[in-house]
Amino acid sequence: MEFLRLRGAGVSPGIAMAEAFLTERVVFSSRPTPIPASRAGAEVKRFREASDRTREELIQVRDTIRAKVGEEHAFIFDAHLLILDDPALKTGVERRIQEGRVSAESALTEVHAHYAGIFDALTDETMRQRKADVTDVMTKLYRNLAPGEAEAEPALDGPTILVAHDLLPSEAARRFSQGNVLAVAMDMGGPTSHAAILARSMNIPTVVGLHDITQRIRNGDILIVDGTDGEVIVNPPPAVRKEFLGKKDKYDAYRRELHEVAKWKSVTRDGVRFFPMANIELPEEIHHALSYGAEGVGLFRSEFIYLQRNALPTEEEHFAVYSRLAKEVYPNPVFIRTIDIGGDKSLPILQIQKEPNPALGLRAVRFSLKHRELFRIQLRAILRASAQRNVRVTIPMITEIEEIGEFKLLFAEIKAELAEAKIPFDPALPLGIMIEVPAAAALTDLLVREVDYLSIGTNDLIQYYLAVDRSNEDVAYLYKPLHPSVLRLLRFVIETASKAGKEVSICGEMAADPLSAMVLLGLGLRRFSMNPIFIPRIKKALRAVEAKTVSRVVRQAMDLKSAQEVEEFLIEKLLVRHPEAFLQSGLSS
Ligand code: PEP
Ligand code: MG
Repeated sequence: MEFLRLRGAGVSPGIAMAEAFLTERVVFSSRPTPIPASRAGAEVKRFREASDRTREELIQVRDTIRAKVGEEHAFIFDAHLLILDDPALKTGVERRIQEGRVSAESALTEVHAHYAGIFDALTDETMRQRKADVTDVMTKLYRNLAPGEAEAEPALDGPTILVAHDLLPSEAARRFSQGNVLAVAMDMGGPTSHAAILARSMNIPTVVGLHDITQRIRNGDILIVDGTDGEVIVNPPPAVRKEFLGKKDKYDAYRRELHEVAKWKSVTRDGVRFFPMANIELPEEIHHALSYGAEGVGLFRSEFIYLQRNALPTEEEHFAVYSRLAKEVYPNPVFIRTIDIGGDKSLPILQIQKEPNPALGLRAVRFSLKHRELFRIQLRAILRASAQRNVRVTIPMITEIEEIGEFKLLFAEIKAELAEAKIPFDPALPLGIMIEVPAAAALTDLLVREVDYLSIGTNDLIQYYLAVDRSNEDVAYLYKPLHPSVLRLLRFVIETASKAGKEVSICGEMAADPLSAMVLLGLGLRRFSMNPIFIPRIKKALRAVEAKTVSRVVRQAMDLKSAQEVEEFLIEKLLVRHPEAFLQSGLSS
């Protein structure tokens, strides 16, 4: 038994060791099977019957998953039903049968290859991940063309590590809900695939992007999957097993601590209440976010509704997502950010032109105000979901006051339409803007009068303020949230908004760093929104300090001249004095 160490990407943290179980690979028919013209009608009928059977199956899986795993995962199968009933898929296959004179299997294989080609050519990782969903539905359809012939799927006996080329979402949901999958290793995949999301929310360590693990191992090999570091070890010798079991114990202790801390009250040592909230991209993440102690969703990146689909989402689809979020988070708030699309987040359905400088291009509110019909659909759905009374709407990338004015006009028109049609909504729905363009930050005193709250997006604000591309590794050394200029700008925004009696929150990654979060607390911030996994560590850090002391220290730090000086000063004054601010296990994420 060969000993191997394989590197991939860890998409769900944790460590597990067990025997490998290889799932079968999806295979469509390889050669086209011609048919006589007289058979085309019968093949189309066979295809339609397969569609009906697939629909019944999907509904059944959805209902089982809803009962066994929870409502939030049943959503995947609603998406699969939409793919199944996509008119382009149906007419594509039927046309191939009739015009290409091939069997339903061959037509389906060709149409699948066509879709797979489109997805493979996309550069956006999230969109590429949707290929697994399309393949999943089409595989089911394929099997249902000859329903009696499908072999029964071998059941897992005992704890197992699932190894797959590309784990289809339905298979992931079904296997995971059986309860004996300890970890997953895959050739393909990425962090936003449904299988990865499901694995994260069910605490199943997962490593993806291993390229050829399915070729390199056999059923029964012993595997260690380290989803924290993105490594898979095949047939580990005793010393390596021991090392990993030690690491597993440490990780398990860390996890227990996270969930313990998640239950604590969010209050500083001197009794100042603060609110940790979650940044999420998919409604499926909500359960996970709440388990980490999120007191609301501070940023719902609604563009993911578009990026996940092959067709433009309807008002009902938007509404289903928003109202579900609002219900699950109630009575805490959900800040729905209107789409931040354009720039580097392309939307193939709209065929947006590639821009020479996407970060400075037609993105976010600029895009929305230009594509009003699309924007109306989203805003109607947000307003309808607001009937729940805990929804807020945040506009991204505001650069000038006119954009707020234009937004308000449009919003008022939609409110009037809804009122006229007697469709309920929250007439007092709070409206906020993101402060992520330096020009808007400098105008805080004027802009804040126009809205109910501000949400500081430091990811973009820092990139524009310091002229450092947030995704360019070569200049990452200049990307400094503790740069004195950034601190001064943040102080201005937070103090100005607070003086005006308006709420201000932060939803950039900066909020997830303990030292930066302390600084923000010192500047007067009380709402911190971040990737949910970081909530416990921020809670622990802020509970360890006194807001009053931190304010004083931060005021002194403002006069220092470099990020390095600020950091050293803060570490000495805040972190060194508060060892209890750290998670005991010492792991950072
Ligand atoms: C930000 O810019 O800080 C932000 C939260 O928005 P995004 O990361 O989605 O651009
Ligand atoms: Mg942003």
